[in-house]
This record gives sequence, structure tokens and C-alpha cells, in this order.
Amino acid sequence: MASRYEIRDRPASLPPLRVKRKDARAKLDHNKYAKSLFALKDRLVTSDFVALMGELFHPEQRPKRGFWDLGFWSGGSARADRPTPDAVTFIQLKDFRSAAETFQVDTRWSDQLLQYTDIWSDAPRNTETADPEFREKWREIERDVNAKLLGQSRAESDRLQGLVSAFEESHGVSLDVLETTTMFVCRQCNRQAISGKFKKAKCDCGEQIASLSDVDQVPLSAPAPGIQAIWTENMWLEEGIAYQFRAHKYDAESGLQVLGGSGVDHEVDVIAERGRPSARVFCECKHREIRPNDVLVFAGKVRDIGGQAAMIFTTATSVDDRVQRLARANGVQIVHSVIDKPQEGWAEVLRL
Ligand SMILES: [Zn+2]
Repeated sequence: MASRYEIRDRPASLPPLRVKRKDARAKLDHNKYAKSLFALKDRLVTSDFVALMGELFHPEQRPKRGFWDLGFWSGGSARADRPTPDAVTFIQLKDFRSAAETFQVDTRWSDQLLQYTDIWSDAPRNTETADPEFREKWREIERDVNAKLLGQSRAESDRLQGLVSAFEESHGVSLDVLETTTMFVCRQCNRQAISGKFKKAKCDCGEQIASLSDVDQVPLSAPAPGIQAIWTENMWLEEGIAYQFRAHKYDAESGLQVLGGSGVDHEVDVIAERGRPSARVFCECKHREIRPNDVLVFAGKVRDIGGQAAMIFTTATSVDDRVQRLARANGVQIVHSVIDKPQEGWAEVLRL
């Protein structure tokens, strides 16, 4: 449900604001994983945190280690923010060759399998019509590939857990950002036989799954729902900057929408306010270099809202001279190198 604008009339010496929280942000209020991540406070805007998130969410930067990294799953990935166990289904025939190479399965049969592509767009369903020898061979390959995939999924799950616990250990924190789900794996074909909770079912291979003893239970960890949005939509940075303001005696909130004097609403990453001496700072946060347009758009927003102080925070380690001049001319202060900024650095920057 979309929230409504509320009037914020403090500090009393400043004009009231019409403010509401962004829906994407409000949605995370009751997400325990998001809470755990935001509780990192000053550890959010650190190179260690950036490295951890980079490992969790950029599969193209690392070797293919798990089923969710592979492009040829017939099950596909239904949810964008975590691997779905549904992806552990069998490979489609057209992809057999690449799969065979990836998992070093016996490829002697691959040509024959490929010949059947036209008739069998969905081989596992139609194996009944094949001759018995071919069918048996197909099942053997299937079992083999599925077992290797399962092994890779387990290794990826272990790797993610290892990364998170290394971060926890070196920072002395508890970080709940992985969700563990149990996969129920058919003992006949090594494929995920049931998605979600355990229930009686018939596996695609034909095996009847009547009780838990018919399956292997495999727990797999993956990034929890909501965590990817916090990373890709820069909420970690906004919240990390808001935390620094709070640590310097401001009230600060991130992820807001503010109604401008024009009646048009604007996203403002962080608003920090202070009573005496009164101050209200509008902030933009960027996990990249600042471009001229960033300054112009932000300065325009602040003008429409009627703000007195505007700051842009960037993780970039320098700011182009032209951009810096543009910022000064438009009453915007740019703070760069926010990652791993020492406390003295923050004290200096936020002594406004
Ligand atoms: Zn099966």
C-alpha cells in the first residue's frame, strides 16, 4: 500500500516539509535480513562490505560455481534476488553439448541425444517412447549431471557462508543476509523433486516420493530476499551516510520522497536535520563518479523543495574540476572518498 505524505514541521525554525518514505524502503521495515544489514552502521560504507556484496551479487566477475550461474537451466531463475531451487531441473537437449563439457560427462551419446532434439523438445517427459537402451543411457547421464550440479550448488552455498562468516569474524558482528532453504532431492535421478515444503509428489523421472526417506535433504544458502535491492539500489550507502549524520548529532533518515514547491515529488537519498543551531541538509549518494548532470539535477530538486544545504556523497576518490566548479556555483557541496573514511574525516565533513 502506498504511503501518504506527512508534514514535517521540525526543526521549528525551518519551513515544514512534505515527506514520505519510498515504498521500496518501507517494504524492508519488517525484513529481518535488511535489519541485520542496516545494523552494520559505520561498517556499511567500507571496502570490506563493498567486497562482500560484490561477491554475493556479481556472478559475471567470478567463475561459474553454481546452478544459478549457468545459463542453460530449463527451470530458469524465477526470482531475481536469489537462486531458486527450481533451477535444479534437467538440462534442455539443445544445451546438452555445453553441459556435457562443463560437467565432463560421457559425451559418446551426445550426438545421438541431439538427433532426438526435434522430436523431444522436452526429453525427460518423453523418454517413455525411446528404446530401452537409449532411455537407460539418458537416465545415467541425467543422474550424473544432476549430481555434479548439486555438488556445485553445495560448494557455492558453502562459499557464501564462508564469505559472510569471514566478514562477521573480522568485524565482530553478526550478519544475517543468507537464507537457507532445504532442497528435496530425488534419490533416483538426483534432481530436485519437490519445491518448497515437503509433500508427496511424483518426480519428473517417474519416481514416487512418498516420504522423507525417498529424498536427500540438501540445505542451500543464498542471498536472502531484499538484500540484493539494498545493494543494487544503493540503500546501503544512503543508510551508511545517514548513520554518520546521526553519529554527529543529527536526526537523519534515508530513502525519502519530498514534495517540491512545484507540487512535483523528488527522491532525496538522505535528509539530516538538527535543532540548535538549526540545519536541514539534503543529500544525494552515488556509488560512482559525479557527473555534471548529477549536480544540476540535484541542485534543481533542492531548489524546488526549498532547502538550505545540499551535499552529494560519492564513493569515487576524486571529483572532476568542472564538476566541482558547477557544484560550488549551485550551492552543492561534494564529499568524495566516503568508503573507509576515518572518523576524523567524518567529523570534519559534518561540522556544518
Ligand atoms: Zn527423480
